Amino acid sequence: MKIAIIGGGIAGITAGIALQNRGFEFDVFEQAPEFKEIGAILGVLPNGMEVLDSFGLADEIIEKGGVFNEFRVNSPSGKMIRNSFFNYRLPAVIIRRSDLHFALLSKIQKSSLFSNYQLVGYELTESKKVLLSFSNGEKLIYDAIIGADGIHSTVRKKIVGDSKPIYRG
Ligand SMILES: Cc1cc2nc3c(=O)[nH]c(=O)nc-3n(C[C@H](O)[C@H](O)[C@H](O)COP(=O)(O)OP(=O)(O)OC[C@H]3O[C@@H](n4cnc5c(N)ncnc54)[C@H](O)[C@@H]3O)c2cc1C
Repeated sequence: MKIAIIGGGIAGITAGIALQNRGFEFDVFEQAPEFKEIGAILGVLPNGMEVLDSFGLADEIIEKGGVFNEFRVNSPSGKMIRNSFFNYRLPAVIIRRSDLHFALLSKIQKSSLFSNYQLVGYELTESKKVLLSFSNGEKLIYDAIIGADGIHSTVRKKIVGDSKPIYRG
């Protein structure tokens, strides 16, 4: 089973490591010229920390980040809508996105990473494989495709149709 992961952000690299650890063949295709995370910080909750621990990364993430045990959601005016307290085997950790991405990249086989590959479309073949088309002109065949290509996902659009994100205040 050879699997194509579209998008080399936090989700795409995480999916790749999980497949690698279970012995699947996979490739990760990223549209950008390099595998790099931009943006500020991210809170990794205890369930996410369990995943990172299974990759042997929990200690590094705790060391590079900051542990927190209460999580609040406030309205724009500052009114608290909800708060949660964590008391699990592993803590919740707030960390720079680039530090998390870098740690994940250290665990994935580099031969499976392809940059400058923007997916522009895909279709099912008669033999039930997936034919991927990239903007660089390449066409590749895989057994399955995982869409980890973000909020404007090209993969998702084809499965559930086009829809715009809705601002919920
Ligand atoms: C302000 C803010 C705060 C947040 N805080 C948290 C938090 O504290 N904790 C938390 O868990 N989540 C948080 N989130 C949500 C979290 O950021 C996202 O769920 C997460 O970053 C999504 O990661 P991803 O890898 O799925 O997508 P992305 O990070 O968007 O990565 C998608 C990747 O796919 C690539 N790509 C896109 N299209 C294509 C294509 N056609 N072909 C090839 N590559 C493509 C992109 O270049 C990119 O590298 C927050 C979100 C926001 C906006």
